[in-house]
Amino acid sequence: MIRKFLAAVAAMAAFSQAFQATPAYAAEEVNLYSYRQPFLIQPFLDEFTKQTGIKVNVVYAQKGMLERLQAEGRNTPADAVLTVDIARLDALAKAELLQPIDSEILKKNIPAQYRHPDGIWFGLTTRARVVYASKDRVKPGEVASYADLAEPHMKGRICTRSGKHAYNISLLASIIAHKGVDAAETWARGVKANLARRPQGNDRAQVKAIKEGICDVSLGNTYYMGFMATNEKSPEQKEWAAAVNVLFPEQDGVGTHVNISGAAVTEYAKNKENAVKLLEFLSEDFAQHMYAEQNFEYPVKKGVKWHPLVASWGTFKADDINLDVIAAHRAEAAKIMDRVDFDG
Ligand code: FE
Repeated sequence: MIRKFLAAVAAMAAFSQAFQATPAYAAEEVNLYSYRQPFLIQPFLDEFTKQTGIKVNVVYAQKGMLERLQAEGRNTPADAVLTVDIARLDALAKAELLQPIDSEILKKNIPAQYRHPDGIWFGLTTRARVVYASKDRVKPGEVASYADLAEPHMKGRICTRSGKHAYNISLLASIIAHKGVDAAETWARGVKANLARRPQGNDRAQVKAIKEGICDVSLGNTYYMGFMATNEKSPEQKEWAAAVNVLFPEQDGVGTHVNISGAAVTEYAKNKENAVKLLEFLSEDFAQHMYAEQNFEYPVKKGVKWHPLVASWGTFKADDINLDVIAAHRAEAAKIMDRVDFDG
């Protein structure tokens, strides 16, 4: 009990930046808790304020959002949240910290598979979970599907981060949704049997391993390719990126698994109308373009231009299963990863 309380306090402390005192003249405002970094969102938040006169106060953090919202209860200053991954959105929804929003603009701009059926959360950008493949050592057609990663010809050739990581759990959950628990478990076992090394590191570390010849393919999110290929701070990452092709699995099947970054209005929002306006703004062309481009992601709204580098990886068929269905299979996916001792 005490340990749980201390964990909550520590998590809350992660939100170190307090809201700035709101000037008395700021009649219209909206308060946002964000896991997305300032460089990503500040430019279009400024534009939102310019267009609407609504001031946006943001608390940035890397963790502890759910604990903080729970601890604050109905006293929370947060009107809306911005976060990544269906896992986090679903956790907030299940903890009853979000409220449903009925907005024609959000429904029009965001395809149904990227928003909660009852409007509890909304995807704003997508990222595909692709296969990074060595340009030198992977022949065309060797990996056309996720299923290929479990085939004998991939023995000793695969690197990945932990099977317990949210990105891999969501991918496995999508396989459960399409093929059932048994097939998903067989797949996870097969991939484990083909690993070149124990799961470790993040998505970029796997591409580094491909460059170094440790493995030939890895699983990774698309935007990391953008960050590696343009990394002036760590130019060696450009070489990692240059060593691989981005392969979109399942083009002859259900389509490549995608996840979302998203937003939602909190259960106890005091500025609900402004929060809805902000979400709607984020779903329109201006913010969609800027938001997706900053993080090398895909806009959810159709017809919004992609970053040229992102476009250079090619268009692809994305799995159109609702992310809410994937969320429903996440717990089972985590159990499978345990059963097959994926990280062991
Ligand atoms: Fe990531």
